[in-house]
Amino acid sequence: MKTIVIGGGPAGCAAAYTLSKQGHDVLLFEASDQVGGRTKQLRRDGFNLATGALFLMGGIYPRTSALLAEMGHDRDIVPWGGASELQDKDDSRYPVSFVSLLSYLRIPVLSLGDKLKVAMAGLRLHLRPGASNPFDGAELAAFDKGEDLETWSRKNLGERAYEYIVRPIMDFLYAVPASWLSTPFPHAIIQQAHKMKLSVPPGGVGQVSEWFVQAAKRAEVRLSTPVERVERSSQGYRVFANGEAHDADGLVVATEAFVAAKLLEPYIDADARSRLTEAPYTDYAHVAIGYAKSPWPNYPTDIVLPVGVGGTRNIGAIVLHSRRHPGSVPKGGELVGVYFNTPPLAHMSDEDIKREALEAAIKAFGAAPDPTFVHLFRYDRGLTIAGPGHYSKLDAVHKAMPPRVCLAGDYFSQAGVEAAVFSGERAAQMLDRAMH
Ligand SMILES: Cc1cc2nc3c(=O)[nH]c(=O)nc-3n(C[C@H](O)[C@H](O)[C@H](O)COP(=O)(O)OP(=O)(O)OC[C@H]3O[C@@H](n4cnc5c(N)ncnc54)[C@H](O)[C@@H]3O)c2cc1C
Repeated sequence: MKTIVIGGGPAGCAAAYTLSKQGHDVLLFEASDQVGGRTKQLRRDGFNLATGALFLMGGIYPRTSALLAEMGHDRDIVPWGGASELQDKDDSRYPVSFVSLLSYLRIPVLSLGDKLKVAMAGLRLHLRPGASNPFDGAELAAFDKGEDLETWSRKNLGERAYEYIVRPIMDFLYAVPASWLSTPFPHAIIQQAHKMKLSVPPGGVGQVSEWFVQAAKRAEVRLSTPVERVERSSQGYRVFANGEAHDADGLVVATEAFVAAKLLEPYIDADARSRLTEAPYTDYAHVAIGYAKSPWPNYPTDIVLPVGVGGTRNIGAIVLHSRRHPGSVPKGGELVGVYFNTPPLAHMSDEDIKREALEAAIKAFGAAPDPTFVHLFRYDRGLTIAGPGHYSKLDAVHKAMPPRVCLAGDYFSQAGVEAAVFSGERAAQMLDRAMH
């Protein structure tokens, strides 16, 4: 059977790989000039910049790990310790490990009472049921009781643990206030925290999508080919891109949610259309600062997380990339990534963001000469905002699809490569079943 996949991010590439394994011919259309979507790489001045995603998360990413092993690439992935420090308002530093929640309990600002409260909340979470797959929107929906993460954290962990544990982690990972997020995803991650390990493919996270399409023997990839519209045809569907029409028995639509809504507009009801169109995304900005010669070759940690009780913070994390992804820098060089929180971006110009990023890098790691370049990545739509009610709202859309059309994308869960890969593989399986 002939299938078409629209969108070549990790979701679409995982779908193309799975459909190809099932024996279907696949034509994948990607609007950009390379696959990878929000994980793709950008080469500049001998550096390999991550336009978005930075790392995979080990056992917390089971389908990504399984498919990498199946393709023979599990041994290529390079582990990264993610040594971190919290940077308090008075510039005190508290070393932690980004992958070990327990390490946060050693920081001196938490009192014994705070630590006991956190330990008790952790124990209660472990004892109660939660989503076994934090990237399956349908499972997450079953545990969504409408509570937001800030309310839950302040009540169950206390003020200081909220400020020094929950906020720094979530600011870096999701860039929005915890009050905008629902609880089932972080709860499921806490339950599986022991499985968390950070790693990066040698070519950067974008390489995961490249590996999928290389291993998809029956797939043909058309880059720089945005799909303009989809029509029903006698065979199934006709897809129009770059002035040509292509027929297929079935489709996987693996674009961002609002693009899927537009492409499928004539074939889905108004309710499904508005659920997809209104799926909320963050504004997002990060700055890559390149140094041909590292000003801080011996700095002991790779991630600095600004903290401090109360107030808003413009920046979620400042990251040294040379140990995270050695292939991202020329020999002896360093690349600093400065990751901004969403709310302040509404009032910041591109120049404000770049200036503040440079100041933050120097405050975090020490004085430095002028960098080789300062590159701003700024997106209207960065990451899904999975607030209370998000998962069930999006999950319901699967049922509203016309025959032999399946949706894939990270927006069904809480963003992340695993969310995308899981949804891409599942969409391919659903389409395969529908075509038999
Ligand atoms: C700054 C940042 C940091 C991140 N860090 C991490 C991280 O460290 N770890 C992690 O796991 N995740 C991270 N993520 C999230 C991760 O990048 C996303 O979850 C993932 O890329 C989603 O994959 P997707 O395939 O669903 O969507 P996308 O990656 O958005 O792919 C969708 C694709 O569809 C294409 N497309 C759109 N319209 C059309 C059309 N009409 N025709 C053809 N193609 C079209 C787009 O060009 C795009 O390539 C990060 C994201 C950002 C923005």
